[in-house]
Amino acid sequence: MSKDIVFDLIQKEHDRQVNGVELIASENFVSDDVLRAMGSVLTNKYAEGLPGKRYYGGCQVVDEVEDVARERAKQLYNAEWVNVQPHSGASANSAAMLACLNPGDTMLGFDLSHGGHLTHGSPVNYSGKLYRPVFYGVNRETGRVDMDMVRDVARKEKPRLIVCGASAYSRDWDYATFRQIADEVGALLMADMAHPAGLIAKGLLRNPLEHCHLVTTTTHKTLRGPRGGMILVGKNFDNPWGLKTKKGTLRGMTGLLDSAVFPGMQGGPLEHVIAAKAVAFGEALRPEFETYGRQVMANAAAMADEFMQRGYHVISGGTDNHSMLIDLRNKNITGKEAEEALVASEITVNKNMVPFDTQSPFVTSGIRVGTAAVTTRGLKVDDIRQIVGWIDEVISDHTNPSTIASVKEMVEEKMSAYPLFGWTEVVAE
Ligand SMILES: *Cc1c(COP(=O)(O)O)cnc(C)c1O
Repeated sequence: MSKDIVFDLIQKEHDRQVNGVELIASENFVSDDVLRAMGSVLTNKYAEGLPGKRYYGGCQVVDEVEDVARERAKQLYNAEWVNVQPHSGASANSAAMLACLNPGDTMLGFDLSHGGHLTHGSPVNYSGKLYRPVFYGVNRETGRVDMDMVRDVARKEKPRLIVCGASAYSRDWDYATFRQIADEVGALLMADMAHPAGLIAKGLLRNPLEHCHLVTTTTHKTLRGPRGGMILVGKNFDNPWGLKTKKGTLRGMTGLLDSAVFPGMQGGPLEHVIAAKAVAFGEALRPEFETYGRQVMANAAAMADEFMQRGYHVISGGTDNHSMLIDLRNKNITGKEAEEALVASEITVNKNMVPFDTQSPFVTSGIRVGTAAVTTRGLKVDDIRQIVGWIDEVISDHTNPSTIASVKEMVEEKMSAYPLFGWTEVVAE
């Protein structure tokens, strides 16, 4: 066995994951099989290009691996086409935008401070530097995406691309209305389903592929695969939509997307990660994954309810998916202070801007929480309500070290009953 200190650190991180309650909405725990595929000899192989069309020899086996991943992904989402090579969600988005936009083109995205993602036009991201981003947001009263605002901004700014999807938004998306708006102003419509992808795969939320010209996602959030991304196109969407190559010839969208991933954005694909994606997609195709998804949503609904019963302001008054944003301004604590006190109690959350926030992104007025990871551990609605009680205890008394110590002890004691890997099936309540 290697004595490299790195393996001691991996053990420490393993223990941290086992001991704590993981409520970061973008995280999950992969199966032993996904881990095994990721840590395999496939990492040794160069395979630039696509299955059957590679720039390197010896790709006959990884071709088959990538084809399994592609077929399973298509089956999960009823897709016509997929590229499983993007290294991450951000890479998938950059390739998608490279295919759809020219530098300086206008794109319409969801405001980062209302729940959108950095890659949807933030000024600190390539998307905000290369393109001309404009934004829509949520309605102040309802906390839901303001479709009138989407339509107004789209009519006024005439974006070439409209992006829906978010990192911190607890409601389902009205893709059909987004599509009407896109058609009216002549825009392409892209959905980024990075967060709810696992729930969409089982039909528990609307499928954006039915309405959007292209869809990007991560594979490691509710979909519970390895860290990575992909781009999908639904049935009957491989039309040029006026997209032209540099030489002015019209090309199908899927061809443009393939070449935007490689050679446009990336070099060699991570075939070990693609193998792990294939394994995770296989798991997601099984009926147990629907049971899991339903439990994720039942747990999130119970979590939102318990927070609200305790006087917390859950943005939009509940959740349709696995996650929610909590505005802490009525609790006299910032997002940063809440995150620090909760992490000290082994309850991991992240601070997050809330719509119309008055604090900076480093302080924030809220936290974001989600149930994908704890549901994989095996927690049910009663456990979730108990944990919200502990969160309330810590937040109400966050400067008191003995409160933090006592909650930490209860968390560790509870979680010792739930093994991290090799989970057993989740049974719905
Ligand atoms: C997480 C996320 C991403 C980025 O994924 P990475 O793998 O971290 O690059 C992109 N878009 C949305 C909406 C996300 O939530």
